[in-house]
Amino acid sequence: MALSPFKLMQQAVDIVQLSQHPTHPIAATLAGRDENDEPYIISKTNTWPRAIDDALGREIKIGGSSPTIHAEVAAILAAPGKTEGAEIFVTDPPCPNCAKNIIEAGISAVYIDHKGFGKRFATEREKDLKLTYALFKDAGIPVFEVFREKEELKQLVKIKKDFAQPTYDRAPLIRPVNGEPRISEFLRDAVTFRQEYNAESCAAIIAHSPSGEAQFIGCEGGNVIGQTRDSRKKSDSTKYSLNMEPLNRAFMIAARYGLKLDPDYVFTCRVPTPREMVNSVGAGVRDILIDDCEQGRDERSFEALEVLQEADILTVR
Ligand SMILES: [Zn+2]
Repeated sequence: MALSPFKLMQQAVDIVQLSQHPTHPIAATLAGRDENDEPYIISKTNTWPRAIDDALGREIKIGGSSPTIHAEVAAILAAPGKTEGAEIFVTDPPCPNCAKNIIEAGISAVYIDHKGFGKRFATEREKDLKLTYALFKDAGIPVFEVFREKEELKQLVKIKKDFAQPTYDRAPLIRPVNGEPRISEFLRDAVTFRQEYNAESCAAIIAHSPSGEAQFIGCEGGNVIGQTRDSRKKSDSTKYSLNMEPLNRAFMIAARYGLKLDPDYVFTCRVPTPREMVNSVGAGVRDILIDDCEQGRDERSFEALEVLQEADILTVR
């Protein structure tokens, strides 16, 4: 029998103190079903990617942002099966960036422990939390507050019954690779994809299905699922954008369909954002193929790349 939301939340709570984070330990449990419809449960805390921790320590900022992998993203990246349709249980309210990743990973419901609402994020960052709820609502994902002791749920974000589930502005390209992947062919396919898509920002990766079949995934950056150009004012009072950066999107697409990233095959048309690079390092990436190293979203991207290159954490081909 499937575990109750209270038991699943307890699994996250049980490991939260294993987090390396000295002040904000957070844990997430992801419960889903793999491609054979077998249930899986995985729990992760927020963490520093090993390569960054070893080379730079935990005090450093990378391109102005903390180089931690948030618990929700850590759980999604480590999921043993597809994340589409999975449910996530988090000890604290997710930040808007995690909300975007949860949405793009195809997760169907979000549960937040009631104790998480007494902590810093919920009390000091009300506007960010409001944005998190708005993102989930627009994406059709219900959110529940979990009271473990009382075994009660309080629905924080309700979705109308006839709500039409939104999707990508432009569907990503996912297609099998013929034979073993090769860098030269991957690069050719990625550049062709970029030209055909004619996107301002795009990314391509290769990921493997459970049976070992390689898949080429190409996608563009753009509005996170559920948002449009007109909804931008929603994020105005926060530091967050409603944009899904292409490489983060590619990682989430792979997770969504149960495909495991091949860290040797990562392409972006311009210098990735600091958050994309930290997530890449967390996903085991050591080399990135960048089409145009002169272009980036902003200065922060170049700063972050410099730090990571100097520390030999990431190289650019
Ligand atoms: Zn987060």
